[in-house]
Parts: sequence; structure tokens; C-alpha cells
Amino acid sequence: MKNTKTAYILWCLGFFGLCGVHRFYAGKIVSGMVWLLTFGFCFIAQIIDLALIPSMISEANREKGYFQPSEVITSSPPAPVVNQVINEREIIEKERIKVRCSYCRALVDEGQTNCPNCGAPL
Ligand SMILES: [Zn+2]
Repeated sequence: MKNTKTAYILWCLGFFGLCGVHRFYAGKIVSGMVWLLTFGFCFIAQIIDLALIPSMISEANREKGYFQPSEVITSSPPAPVVNQVINEREIIEKERIKVRCSYCRALVDEGQTNCPNCGAPL
């Protein structure tokens, strides 16, 4: 699994005259050679690569068959179903421990002597 952090560290080698090493890391051998030989197009293309590194790395990982963590989360449908079940259970529990005030119809915690909304005795 390749990561953008390593790519950025390799990108910094450009300051020492070694441009395009991050492209070798991302599997872009041909353009890496071009960057290396042209000093990253006079460092301009090297600077632009700062913005391209994340997509470069995710592309390289996809080609290797790795999944990005974000892709795994978005492609798994059971998560909302689980949340729905928990929410339904919470609603039932709330109805069980709360009583309705007979005067203002507000939901009041069971065990209280007076309605906090209108002050009427329960
Ligand atoms: Zn009330």
C-alpha cells in the first residue's frame, strides 16, 4: 500500500536536484525520468505535482488492487440499517420511561412529581 506521505517526502528530494522521484514511487517511470532529466520542467511541473500526488497515489494503489478506506466505507450498505435499528430501540426506551402530562401533553420523565413544562402535578 503506497501512501501520500512517502510521496511528499520523495517530492522534497526535488530541492536537492532529484525531481520526479515521487513519480517513480507512483509507478510513473517514464514521466519520472522526464522530471529527473529536466529538473521537473525547471521545477514548475514539480510544484504542480504537489496537487497531483494524492490522485497519483490512489491511482497507483487501485492498479495494485488496493482499496482506499473511503471507498470501502461508501460501498458497504449495512451501516445505515444498523443505525436505524439502534434508533428504533432508543425511541421505544424513551417512550417507556417517559409519561405524558395530562394538561399540556408534554413528555415528562417518569418519577417526577410535577410537569417541568406547566407545573401541573403528575
Ligand atoms: Zn404539563
